[in-house]
Amino acid sequence: MTESLAVVVGKPRAQTAIDRLQAEGVYDADGSRIDPPEGDSSYELAEFTGLPAGDLNRVRTVFAVMSGKGGVGKSTVAALLAAGLRRAGLRVGVLDSDITGPSIPKLFGVSEHPTTSPLGIMPPQTSTGVKIMSINLMLQNEDDAVIWRGPLIASAINQFWNDVFWGDLDALVVDMPPGTSDAALTVMQGLPVTGIVLVTSPQDLAEMVVSKAAKMAGHLDIPLIGVVENMSYVVCPHCGEKYALFGEGNTQQMAETFDTEFLGDLGIDPQLSNLGDQGQIEAYEHPDFKDVIRAAQTVVTDAPSPKFESERKRE
Ligand code: ADP
Repeated sequence: MTESLAVVVGKPRAQTAIDRLQAEGVYDADGSRIDPPEGDSSYELAEFTGLPAGDLNRVRTVFAVMSGKGGVGKSTVAALLAAGLRRAGLRVGVLDSDITGPSIPKLFGVSEHPTTSPLGIMPPQTSTGVKIMSINLMLQNEDDAVIWRGPLIASAINQFWNDVFWGDLDALVVDMPPGTSDAALTVMQGLPVTGIVLVTSPQDLAEMVVSKAAKMAGHLDIPLIGVVENMSYVVCPHCGEKYALFGEGNTQQMAETFDTEFLGDLGIDPQLSNLGDQGQIEAYEHPDFKDVIRAAQTVVTDAPSPKFESERKRE
């Protein structure tokens, strides 16, 4: 394996590296297998590819799932979106950028530490094959607190993008830190975000929250894909009727005001929180959420063919 990539002419370096990774059985044609090669050959392979993991990634769309504050179900919606897209047959990853409040591994029931190889950090996969990366997977103990200042948080987020071998993905769902904080800015400036999905709840001062997020998105030139209203109603276990506990949410109207889509709503459902607590969020399906998944699928379909990150950066 002495051939140098630098002398391979006519193909992008990253493509040649991927061809070799496929030949070595590290990488499937659909980009789903990312086993680090065993033993010495992995080092030869790293020498051969000579590229950082991030450059070998081909991510078609990046969805940033945001909320104005914590506790409105942002992580739950991010996880349901990822699970739904995966169910629809897409190749999906979840990047948990909520460094101080990570909940993605717990929702998916993943506790396996990421493996490292000379190619980069290999994200663990959930039972349905969603690749996930979260600071919680790196901690000795999942209850340990991450007490970091801004720059360290920003560097962890950037590493999750640049040093993780995500491979080929149709969609990377980013569970954002709550609000329009420094860390949220890090994601929006460091990652090629396709669009923002905003999560609100009826008691969440929707107008102010949507307005702030819409303004942040506007300043950074990132499209707002739409708004999901969570915890909109409860269903009476006896008569099956829906009750809007906090009054009818005016999210739909709000979405119109800010010239974005109302993507759908989700009721308060004990089955959802139970499945989340048990690490089985992928088992949850609700007809009301299908529109949200469909909207995201359309964004993926309409996105241009993915490029290697190395090519994208050069543009
Ligand atoms: P955030 O990411 O906005 O802080 P989470 O997604 O972690 O919020 O949700 C906070 C809590 O609310 C979790 O315990 C979650 O299981 C619960 N939860 C979120 N949405 C729903 C819902 N629609 N029905 C029932 N419980 C929910």
